[in-house]
Amino acid sequence: MSNGIGGKLGRLIGSDQPEDAPCVHVSMVRDVTPSSEEGCEDCLKIGDQWVHLRICLTCGHVGCCDSSKNRHATHHYRESGHPIVQSFEPGEEWIWCYEDSMLIE
Ligand SMILES: [Zn+2]
Ligand SMILES: [Zn+2]
Ligand SMILES: [Zn+2]
Repeated sequence: MSNGIGGKLGRLIGSDQPEDAPCVHVSMVRDVTPSSEEGCEDCLKIGDQWVHLRICLTCGHVGCCDSSKNRHATHHYRESGHPIVQSFEPGEEWIWCYEDSMLIE
């Protein structure tokens, strides 16, 4: 059924999620200001080191990646429920959703 009213109804009822937007959490993305330009704010507080940085796109929290021993970006996701982070490395623009474990471009 691809024509007339049947087709239109089918499209409205049939899908609960549009196929081109598998991650619903992108609606949590805000225009954020980095909480720290220098690096992982939690590592800076305790004088520890990090490997790579991630920035939370909901509140701007800057935290370290899972290759870093403290994994502050993941901690922030667990504590705040903000699943969308972007790479805070120069030249890297990819976005990651913790909830869906997927890259968003
Ligand atoms: Zn998601
Ligand atoms: Zn850290
Ligand atoms: Zn956040």
